[in-house]
Amino acid sequence: MKIGVLSFHGDFAEHISVLTALKVQSMEVRTLEDLEQVDRLIIPGGESTVIAKFLQMTGMDRVIRKRVAKGKLAVYGTCAGAILVAAKAKGKNAPSSLGLINIVVERNAYGSQMQSFEAALKVKGIAESVNGSFIRAPIITKAGRGVEVLSMHDGKPVLVRQGRVLAGTFHPETRGEIAIHKLFLSL
Ligand code: GLN
Repeated sequence: MKIGVLSFHGDFAEHISVLTALKVQSMEVRTLEDLEQVDRLIIPGGESTVIAKFLQMTGMDRVIRKRVAKGKLAVYGTCAGAILVAAKAKGKNAPSSLGLINIVVERNAYGSQMQSFEAALKVKGIAESVNGSFIRAPIITKAGRGVEVLSMHDGKPVLVRQGRVLAGTFHPETRGEIAIHKLFLSL
């Protein structure tokens, strides 16, 4: 099992640190050749518009869709990553998303940087509460058929799963939280 972290932009280094702490083999993914070497991929937080452009420019968008459909790639999208894996992304300048999980996500739905916050989250299957940072986070406005809600905050789903695709609107990696990465590795 080799885990890739999409490393064009955003907080990929923090994800690599969490994976290193979990003692799993990981690598930064920047090219199609890199992508071929991994069977799990983390799409980190950052700017979804920027990451979407890179995915299109490199052709990774098509390859990711194809490999997920064939069951050959598990994907975890955090924050901007959750916008990118969604079936539909809404909000100002919302990028075209990859459509890997049956959710609708609204970009910057909590407001500006000032409305960023942290929360202790209860997550299905995890005994201790999980630290989550919501940094200009999106909101999952709809979790459709086939989607399992693993955590809610303020009446909204914040961590969801469909098959081997996991999407979270919060960052666990910024504080070195390892529980969600462990969950991803178990899919
Ligand atoms: N606001 C960013 C976006 O919409 C996401 C922020 C983040 O990943 N922390 O792309």
